[in-house]
Amino acid sequence: MKEVKAYGTNAVSAPLHELTITRRTLRPHDIEFEVLYCGICHSDLHRLKGEFGEPFFPLVPGHEILGRITALGEEVRDFKIGELVGVGCIVDSCGHCDSCHEGLEQFCEEGVTFSFNSLDKVSGGHTFGGFSKSYVCEDRYVLHMPSFDNLPMAAPLLCAGITVYSPLRHWQAGPGKKVGILGIGGLGHLAVRIAKAMGAEVTVFTTSPSKVADAARLGADHAVLSSDEAAMKALRGKLDFILDTVSAGHDVDRYLGLLRHDGSLVVVGLPSEPLSVAAYSIVRGRRSLSGSNIGGIAETQEMLDFCYQHGIVAEGEVLPISQVNEALDRLERGDIRYRFVLDVTEL
Ligand code: NAP
Ligand code: ZN
Repeated sequence: MKEVKAYGTNAVSAPLHELTITRRTLRPHDIEFEVLYCGICHSDLHRLKGEFGEPFFPLVPGHEILGRITALGEEVRDFKIGELVGVGCIVDSCGHCDSCHEGLEQFCEEGVTFSFNSLDKVSGGHTFGGFSKSYVCEDRYVLHMPSFDNLPMAAPLLCAGITVYSPLRHWQAGPGKKVGILGIGGLGHLAVRIAKAMGAEVTVFTTSPSKVADAARLGADHAVLSSDEAAMKALRGKLDFILDTVSAGHDVDRYLGLLRHDGSLVVVGLPSEPLSVAAYSIVRGRRSLSGSNIGGIAETQEMLDFCYQHGIVAEGEVLPISQVNEALDRLERGDIRYRFVLDVTEL
């Protein structure tokens, strides 16, 4: 066991402070890496506010974890000391259920272990995230990071990137498809870039006037302020697919109506309150309302390679980890274009 510095908290909605956690002694297939950068996802904020249920304490968030390998277990073959690696949301799964066999570890039938605040079935206790000096993870959940020019802004690909890439692939966003992206935050702005790189025609729906102005720069073909009734009406029945990344309660019916027949609206945002849907919104046009949760490990590697090939990283601000509370406050107020990444090297 190794004592490691981290930022965490012992109460719901309380500021984070420096504390000490322990990382396990390396097992034969474990990789230890020094954390360089860690993105801040709205899921970290939901968890800190107790919106996903009562957390385990101490709570150390962070699941867009990018670092450099410092030690390897004796059975690790595919990684080298000094290599850049990433860990996203998943750090363990059963490995033998149908979902795991299909590379869908996120749906593991025995329950997936997440990289932070998740019960650790092997070691006991709970997992501590990437707001920490180092991380230890079994090799099959560790991603090879391509050498992105803007390395800090590649960290958000590890959760935000795969969460939008996976449904865009599954529902076949590509040439000839009209795709809507709802909510332009950390997930949404990456969804615009990835859907464009896949060849889709992209329309952005936002509640923020300044993001309408910024949408073309992000690569979107069209942008709609969701309060603009005329623009919303003009798009009725026009889209093939909508990816809903909104983090708070909102009117899904309003967007279902924009789908053509057999179109799908896929929810990835996790508002704490239930979404309601009028039957008529899906009955009419045989539309689907569906959901998606991150992505499997092989698909996450595929996404990293795709983003590297297309020059896609997140856009945002890098702050030292000592300013984590300021970053969380600003994320809650929507005061970030578009993702915070913590520089953990000072810890
Ligand atoms: P974020 O950066 O805060 O972006 C969320 C966006 O939602 C905001 O930028 C805003 O976009 C829109 N929004 C916020 N409040 C709204 C409201 N009251 N009404 C309408 N729109 C509102 O968050 P994120 O990190 O992208 O995460 C988005 C959601 O996805 C969170 O709930 C997070 O927990 C969830 N998530 C899910 C998965 C998964 O696997 N399913 C993975 C990661 C994250 P505009 O300004 O453009 O309106
Ligand atoms: Zn996340």
